[in-house]
Amino acid sequence: MLGETTQLQSESGSSKALGLNATLDAPTSRLDMDHDDRPREACGVVGIHSPGNDVARATFFGLFALQHRGQESAGIASSDGNAIRLHARMGLISQVFKEEDLADLRGHLAIGHTRYSTMGGSKQHNAQPLITDGPRGRIAVGHNGNVINASDLRTELSEQWGITFDRTSDTEVIAEMFARAPGRDWFEVAWYAMRRLKGAYSLVIMSKDELIAVRDPLGIRPLCLGKLNGGYVVASETAALDNIGATFIRELQNGEAVVINKDGITSKIWPAARKTHSMCVFEQIYFARPDSVLNGQLAYDSRRRMGAELFRESPVDADLVIGIPDSSIPHAIGYANASGIAYGEGIIRNRYVGRTFIAPDQRMRDVGVQMKFNAMRSIIEGKRIIVVDDSIVRSTTTVRVINMLQNAGAREIHVRVAAPAIISTCHFGVDMATMAELIAANKSVEEIRQHIGADSLAYLSVDGLKAAVGVQDDSYCKGCFTGRYPIPVQLEMDKLALEPTPV
Ligand code: SF4
Repeated sequence: MLGETTQLQSESGSSKALGLNATLDAPTSRLDMDHDDRPREACGVVGIHSPGNDVARATFFGLFALQHRGQESAGIASSDGNAIRLHARMGLISQVFKEEDLADLRGHLAIGHTRYSTMGGSKQHNAQPLITDGPRGRIAVGHNGNVINASDLRTELSEQWGITFDRTSDTEVIAEMFARAPGRDWFEVAWYAMRRLKGAYSLVIMSKDELIAVRDPLGIRPLCLGKLNGGYVVASETAALDNIGATFIRELQNGEAVVINKDGITSKIWPAARKTHSMCVFEQIYFARPDSVLNGQLAYDSRRRMGAELFRESPVDADLVIGIPDSSIPHAIGYANASGIAYGEGIIRNRYVGRTFIAPDQRMRDVGVQMKFNAMRSIIEGKRIIVVDDSIVRSTTTVRVINMLQNAGAREIHVRVAAPAIISTCHFGVDMATMAELIAANKSVEEIRQHIGADSLAYLSVDGLKAAVGVQDDSYCKGCFTGRYPIPVQLEMDKLALEPTPV
């Protein structure tokens, strides 16, 4: 069964979310060296409807541009108008798909998904797209985000519709809701779902002949629309559109649903959606690719402005500004430009770390960060260094980087973080750490400075962050920096809440 593509006939009458071409012995873990203390994004989604063209290959390359959003599993569902075909399994996109898999995924309609689990275990049965059947036929669903009332909804839907849930992700709840909710068209179904689902969900959904895209009423996770070969494409980030030669049209608004079929495209906004979005500000700081446009701003530019604001708030005299590669480079360039201090590359990152299944021995684990980063002594030695980082979660990476710079002969090390201190956990599709693990939730800035061994430490303020992303109002979710979320949340949440309890 390894890698086999399953053909799923329409309207089979099955009553629950279908299993995939289950590859239960497929690899489920990767080398842990890149499991540092970076926040982890939930997922990336792509959907394409292009009459007259096979779109699985374009979906693959769209997903390929979104690999940073999830590395645990990947999948594509396609349709030629008659049947939905599916290929999904654990692993990186390049490991999951071979030429023959794409050849089997025929049709002018496809959705794709790459996953990092934020609810439900990292297991084959939770790989997406998920497929389910209901009164309006078979659908496939790909989801980016986190539904915080999934557990209650599972109980409610089980009682209401007699469903037995056999996956353990919140996406299964979404899939069943879209398959069975009352409504004369997809918009009424989407409004039904929006009234019940709480949290973050950017969705790509397909029937055998329609593509539906939905962005939750808060607009927490990104979703954009483009044009491709006379058809349409939706994707988590604009970089995915660029990667397949699609033309960017616009970002979906919060509470918007889009239906694309042979008659063209129709869009509506849920009448009860808020006027302002609550998009995750961490997308601007770190998650999204720097070459993606979010809320009309190129993320690379937002990040440079964060670095510039950081300098204005927390200047320090030094010889060289460096960034922790790759994600902090734009912030470091912004800091350097604003300060007039030279910018340089002092640390080189091994871009292939995390792409091997050979586990390190304990001694190698102890020096883990040197496998990922290497400091260049001739550039660092004798200098006062400003190290710009985009975030500190637990601080393990920061401690190791500072040790490495000290060993390379740095005279002074000043850490500047181009985001506010993370004082609370995320509930909307980002896996960071528990409250007990978040260093800034438990220590003062001075205590953190001592802990990481830096000569000075400063974070960007929330106001500085707002200035950098160009808002004065209360748009953007900033919950992990403020403890105030766009909707009420339970403070500690277990991503495995829907997994069976071990006996
Ligand atoms: S809590 Fe933080 S990471 Fe989570 S959605 Fe809000 S800003 Fe993003």
